[in-house]
Amino acid sequence: MLKNAQVIDDRVVKVDSFLNHQIDIELFNEIGKEFHRRFKNNGVTKIFTIESSGIAIACVTAQNFNVPVVFAKKQEASNMDEAVYTSEVYSFTKDKTYNVRVSKQFLKCDDRVLIIDDFLANGNALNGLLEIIEKAGAQVAGVGIVIEKLFQGGRKVLNGRDIQLESLVIIKELDNGEIIFG
Ligand code: 5GP
Repeated sequence: MLKNAQVIDDRVVKVDSFLNHQIDIELFNEIGKEFHRRFKNNGVTKIFTIESSGIAIACVTAQNFNVPVVFAKKQEASNMDEAVYTSEVYSFTKDKTYNVRVSKQFLKCDDRVLIIDDFLANGNALNGLLEIIEKAGAQVAGVGIVIEKLFQGGRKVLNGRDIQLESLVIIKELDNGEIIFG
């Protein structure tokens, strides 16, 4: 990972060669298997993510669980249902706030939802997804993150709730362009 990652302003890790632009499918298959190993006893009925980078990871993960993937949409679509759950998500990498939405027909109160995303930074995306699950009256079955940047504090949005969080890679710090793993 070190040699394929680029650090920007000691805030953002660019991993376009295997995660965010070109996709290393062998690695993704292993990620999917690993999330399954960690959450297989949690009664997962649905995998939930946010477009766009989370979708591919969610899909390979879902193959191991044999459940559908639902992703929160960032753009309003004219062909989308009127009945939606929404939440505001600020993206610090894009410096933009999205009103993300999910059709009510795809999240039900009897769902046990595993949230999957590529990065956990300040926790805004995670917070938005949690809010939507709560609005649907569904249960959170866990949170699986590929790379967590611990120093940005995103895990605080779980707020001491009894939710299993699994981050496959933990970055403790970015220091002058260097990645310090946790
Ligand atoms: P948060 O909402 O936790 O602040 O940020 C998480 C979201 O922002 C993720 O869905 C991810 O797409 C994007 N993100 C945050 N930090 C990084 C980063 O260092 N590199 C990349 N490639 N994306 C990031």
